[in-house]
Amino acid sequence: MKDTHKHQGLRNQLVKTITKKGISDKNVLNAIANVPRHLFMDSGFVDFAYQDKAFPIAAEQTISQPYTVAFQTELLKIKPNDQILEIGTGSGYQTAVLIEMGAKVFTIERQLELFKKTKLFLPKLGYKPKKIVFGDGYKGMPEFAPFDGIIVTAGAPFVPNPLLAQLKIGARLVIPVGDEVQIMTLFIRKSEKDFEKHELGEFKFVPMLKERN
Ligand code: SAH
Repeated sequence: MKDTHKHQGLRNQLVKTITKKGISDKNVLNAIANVPRHLFMDSGFVDFAYQDKAFPIAAEQTISQPYTVAFQTELLKIKPNDQILEIGTGSGYQTAVLIEMGAKVFTIERQLELFKKTKLFLPKLGYKPKKIVFGDGYKGMPEFAPFDGIIVTAGAPFVPNPLLAQLKIGARLVIPVGDEVQIMTLFIRKSEKDFEKHELGEFKFVPMLKERN
């Protein structure tokens, strides 16, 4: 499937929509304008790719809503070459947005089907994560820690300690916390022991699951 002028036009509209909803970081908006979201979606949904909505992908998971992707990414305050850990690779759309912004991305997915599909698919579009791992995001990736930022793209029932421990001093963890509904939560590591916590409103994610299939 191709990326056409029509798709670019639809992406520009999408950028306007999420700007109206409050996203202002130019680098984030540029990334949303550049990543061909329709290529990350199942064929039945490609016509809706530039609506600001979540849609089903394989393994009963979802590709996050563009506004949510932009909101979380903005909170990470990414600089080029930052090492970012992503929990929940899913379709790879959020991964691509991070790479588009110059981040070095380490990403974990616990659904084998999605892991296999996205690992093959992302490089085809020219998006090369540093590492894509099939595994449990609750543990993070200690072998590549510490990170400049960590983003969790599934609803976490609690904040996993390993993720806080894998932040550099000054780094940020963006994680939706809760069961039915999640509160977007930002942690900034101030020192070895101190974390600043900000709560930034309600969102709805698929759950961050404990055991593998
Ligand atoms: N970033 C993705 C969002 C996918 S939805 C996108 O833009 O498409 C959340 C993803 O988190 C799902 O793919 C789900 O399988 C994954 N997930 C859930 N629990 C997980 C865990 N414990 N470790 C790693 N990934 C997990």
